[in-house]
Amino acid sequence: MNVIYEPRGRAREYSELACNLYRGCTHGCRYCYAPACMRTTGEKWHAKAEPRKDILSLLEKDAQRLRGDTRSILFCFLSDPYQPLERTERLTRQALEIVSKHNLNNQVLTKGCADLIMEDMDLMKTARTQLGMTLCFAADDARREWEPNASAVDDRLNVLKTAHKAGIFTWVSLEPVIDPDQALAVIHMAHPYVNFWKVGKLNHMKEYERNVNWAKFLVDAETLLTKLGAKYYIKNDLRAFSMR
Ligand code: SF4
Repeated sequence: MNVIYEPRGRAREYSELACNLYRGCTHGCRYCYAPACMRTTGEKWHAKAEPRKDILSLLEKDAQRLRGDTRSILFCFLSDPYQPLERTERLTRQALEIVSKHNLNNQVLTKGCADLIMEDMDLMKTARTQLGMTLCFAADDARREWEPNASAVDDRLNVLKTAHKAGIFTWVSLEPVIDPDQALAVIHMAHPYVNFWKVGKLNHMKEYERNVNWAKFLVDAETLLTKLGAKYYIKNDLRAFSMR
């Protein structure tokens, strides 16, 4: 079994390779796509997280096999690598040590525990990890409504600021955009500490999607990012609105 795999579809726009360390995710985001991917319910997926069986020994085998491959490995798409269970399991830390030992390019995507991320920053520097933070809301009450058990907006900003200062490449997943005004405020707030932006719209929640003028948001976001001299990527689902 390969635990480092090639993501398909929308996930492929984020990374050519990925690895999921945990099964389940207790952040409980309302827009979470993982339960559908794993053919389970949000209730079950968000109730608990557990380490995937033999994940580190399997990762070690895959990392050996991939030596010399320049594609970046993303931790993780289907669970957060810095969820509370990481405090005792330390799977993410050990996974970064493995990919670093094999000199593989890697990135993290999280909205998890700020103190744990901070603890791993020295390792991230050694491992040349690109640290990605999901940040869709500037106001923490909105964040709490949509991502109830994930870290607070201020904590995420602090992580980005600290990592950027430490010389770690930082990127923000501005996805899923739910409220365009909040998304633009995030760009204003975080841009001094962010090396790269990935911007994508909300999907699979028609009741919210239809209230947003996506074509206008696309223009507003690109205008602002360009004005700030930011490097960015617009995901295909949102880019499609430039042709309408
Ligand atoms: S952090 Fe990711 S995997 Fe975890 S609940 Fe939120 S969207 Fe789902």
